[in-house]
Amino acid sequence: MQDSPTPDSPITATVDYHRDGVQHGFLKLPHSHDESAWGSLMIPITVVRNGEGPTALLTGGNHGDEYEGITALLKLAGRLRAEHITGRVIIVPMMNHPAVLNGTRTSPIDKGNLNRAFPGSPTGTLTERIADYFTRHLVPLADLVLDLHSGGRTLDLLPFAATHRLDDLDLARRCLDATLAIGAPNTLLMAELEGDALFDTAVERQGKVFVSTELRGGGTTTPASVALAERGVDNLLRHAGILPGAPAPADTRRLEIPDAAHYLQAEHRGLLEFTVNLGDAVRAGDLIARVHDLERTGTPPAEYHATVNGLLIGRRHPARVSPGDTFAVLAVPLEQ
Ligand SMILES: [Zn+2]
Repeated sequence: MQDSPTPDSPITATVDYHRDGVQHGFLKLPHSHDESAWGSLMIPITVVRNGEGPTALLTGGNHGDEYEGITALLKLAGRLRAEHITGRVIIVPMMNHPAVLNGTRTSPIDKGNLNRAFPGSPTGTLTERIADYFTRHLVPLADLVLDLHSGGRTLDLLPFAATHRLDDLDLARRCLDATLAIGAPNTLLMAELEGDALFDTAVERQGKVFVSTELRGGGTTTPASVALAERGVDNLLRHAGILPGAPAPADTRRLEIPDAAHYLQAEHRGLLEFTVNLGDAVRAGDLIARVHDLERTGTPPAEYHATVNGLLIGRRHPARVSPGDTFAVLAVPLEQ
């Protein structure tokens, strides 16, 4: 029996990826619902092209409440001119556009978490259809992909650029070079939770350079976090030869999140009190947080201790916590 061919994506682009100049348009995904019988999701996209050369795909809003990348890429789409570049820049500031409009991590339409939906499916949920279009139509156009994340409403993360340990050592080297070019204060090798369903993996499996960032969070931005995102994008475009000049030199600290055990989950419900600050060095056994019982007085708080020598690279942002919430992420100095 022959495999049936994969259906075409239902998404159509109003931009021509092969035309020189600046185009602002949409990725249109049919979405028929009560308020719009023959309607579409309209995901904004900008393509800037100036002749032959490398292609960078720059993405934000993979999670809808991570505003640093969205802000930086909306600004870039407004300012980048064809004559500034060699090659092509494809900018999608709000990959999961319904989630961005709703101010949430996941889509309000199908509850889809786009960065757990890769490689996606052309016949799946709306979120899976978006993932599929990136996997099969946009990533193949790109030489390198930068996906800008941050902590969103529930996490606050020390700003870092990240890549992964990969079996393909040549690709791993090229990804690390690009990650260092971002010039973030911290550069991480990161073991991911649920790695198989990430955009990262969909890009790396095509042999393309992939870089991600985590740039603070808390469901807002600061002047510093947006500046870091904008500087990182410019540095990566210079590294790729798309913008002229070399990336601005920056000191970076090399760290690793080696495995899932470095993501600490709460086992209690209540009020989270950190006893260390984001970025503080901790030693294994140090008290890092308490969870206070909100049901009664007189109960001693649950105590949580560091599991390794390292630093607190991420923390839960809201003070209320439930069992299963990742409330602390620990990174260790990179061994090699
Ligand atoms: Zn994210």
